[in-house]
Amino acid sequence: MKYLDVVFNLPVASSFTYSLSEDVPCGVGFRVKVTFGRRSLTGYVIGISEQKPEAAFEIKQVLKVLDRAALFGSEEIELARWVAKIYFCSLGEALGTMLPGGKRESRLPSFDAEDPVSREPKDLSEEQKKAVSAILSSENTLLYLYGITGSGKTEVFLQAAENLIARGKSIIYLVPEISLTHQLAKELKHRFPSGIALLHSSLTPSQRFKEWMKIRNGDVHLVIGARSAVFAPVKNLGLIIIDEEHEGSYKSGSTPRYHARQVAMRRAQRAGATVVMGSATPSLEAFHLMQEGIIRKLVLSKRLSGGRIPDNVLVSMEGETSPLSRVLVSEMKKSLQQGKQIILFLNRRGFSYFFHCRSCGYEMKCSHCSVPLTLHKDRNRMICHYCGHSEKPMTVCPSCGSLDVGYSGFGTELVEEEIVRFFPDAVVSRVDSDSVRKKDVLKNILKDFYAGKIQILLGTQMVAKGLNFPGVNLVGIILADTTLHVPDFRAGERTFSLITQVAGRAGRFSDDGKVIIQTYDPENPAIKAAVENSQEAFYLQELEMRKMLRFPPYVRLFRLVFRGKNEKDVEQFALRVAATLKSGKMEGAEILGPSECPVSRIARNYRYQIIIRTIHFTGTHGMIENLRKVMPKSSVYMEIDVDPLSML
Ligand code: ADP
Ligand code: ZN
Ligand code: ZN
Repeated sequence: MKYLDVVFNLPVASSFTYSLSEDVPCGVGFRVKVTFGRRSLTGYVIGISEQKPEAAFEIKQVLKVLDRAALFGSEEIELARWVAKIYFCSLGEALGTMLPGGKRESRLPSFDAEDPVSREPKDLSEEQKKAVSAILSSENTLLYLYGITGSGKTEVFLQAAENLIARGKSIIYLVPEISLTHQLAKELKHRFPSGIALLHSSLTPSQRFKEWMKIRNGDVHLVIGARSAVFAPVKNLGLIIIDEEHEGSYKSGSTPRYHARQVAMRRAQRAGATVVMGSATPSLEAFHLMQEGIIRKLVLSKRLSGGRIPDNVLVSMEGETSPLSRVLVSEMKKSLQQGKQIILFLNRRGFSYFFHCRSCGYEMKCSHCSVPLTLHKDRNRMICHYCGHSEKPMTVCPSCGSLDVGYSGFGTELVEEEIVRFFPDAVVSRVDSDSVRKKDVLKNILKDFYAGKIQILLGTQMVAKGLNFPGVNLVGIILADTTLHVPDFRAGERTFSLITQVAGRAGRFSDDGKVIIQTYDPENPAIKAAVENSQEAFYLQELEMRKMLRFPPYVRLFRLVFRGKNEKDVEQFALRVAATLKSGKMEGAEILGPSECPVSRIARNYRYQIIIRTIHFTGTHGMIENLRKVMPKSSVYMEIDVDPLSML
């Protein structure tokens, strides 16, 4: 008999022992099927011993060994232990996140450009050359390519990668979205003849498994993937590339709530490898680290793709009667007359949201959540974007019976109707998660747009990233304010970054690119800065404010979210935790709350939060760890978010 130390993808801290007959091949890094309580579960083997451990209970036998070779080794276990410790989860949960067959990270459909242009190696500009040699020199291990879209960041990443691969190193190349992995892999196929592995969650489990083993066996040296690819078991790690570093998708939205940038830095440090990030709009955290000299800043100041930087035009929506302002409509006319294409961006799907009664003031909210329902005309339903609950659209106030009711606010469905009203002869396509739910729809739309068969492309975030269409000379941001009035200290930063990124889609290849930015808040500093391209000034001002108000990057945050079906219980529990925290000595830390979360109810669960901000990360982290150990059992669920990005 041999004895296996097994952990599970469950919130239980300990490991469990199971026995297995000597002659069945199995060891550390294998998955096994075992009985746990009354369930049959998959477990991960993290230790093996010949000796029977002393156990009060009978040791159960493994039901089945699931692998023929180890999926992970001591290096991965060490990384998983670190993830578990930093992000407050069990070792099994950490391994579950890292390994193939784990969680899915996004349900966004993926697409491929039909025949992507392959990326041919270019003669580098002086700035690019400098950047490549900085990445390859062992002096710097954290670097940042700071440059606008089209400034040649990707080319720098690739030449650095090629160089390192030639020296026997492996590269992990992270992109913010699954949809971008395929496109990039196709573009790069011929440049990396030894093969590229793709790791992301829209692969089937068996595809993911195959990619994982290819990487582990050292058959490929370049891994491209979304967030979780940062865990790829590469041999001889030389470089981790984080493209579009500022993207929120690098932070996991469920346990363990890790940030790929943080994990990348840790891995690189252990392996003696380099991390290089890139963006036109760095996160303020990264910007601050560049200022401090901790991350080396490499500026790419010129657009190498040709085309000049587009003109930005700010349009106040005050007094406009349609979501398409008069200025925008007239610019759209011009573009269409010239045979050019248009991208319109609005990160709000549905027709309109916010049903209210003009007689009694009633506001229609989801019956399970504290958020307004969105009218989806296509489906003739009012839908909650938080929990999916839906109801029949109303014409009468459910509170007072008045007929004087209406909807306000506009989403992509409404804007689409407006486009058709103004431009009945143009071919329009809408791209949002409602319109492209069916397989291949998105792919076909993008293909047709690329081929010039569609004149106007309207969409949410999906059209904001990574896509480049030579025929586009006009980009309209229907409402720049959508990310602004959110109770979150990063609202300004996000608004700035989104406008800048979307604007980057215009005129990349032409000299007459124009971006129309519509807003109800034309004096807002984030919007103004984005329109005027005064990035440095905006970042410095924003940092000044963060410093004054004590927000990251000047402090670190922990967010404790409590949720449960009974509001009193949730509140009581949160109060108790806050009291426990306050009774301990937390030097350099400040405890805010408990208070209701901005979204105080989701899917029938009431939500409270405590925010802890600290200048002593490790000490405060330790206090929270202790708190976890002494917390009583409760029906209230507590989730800890380290360095939270969402404050809702
Ligand atoms: P980014 O990643 O910063 O958006 P890319 O690396 O994709 O920029 O480069 C933008 C375009 O410019 C691409 O079409 C690329 O092939 C081209 N390009 C990059 N570097 C050079 C160069 N040194 N000379 C000429 N063209 C270049
Ligand atoms: Zn009413
Ligand atoms: Zn809801």
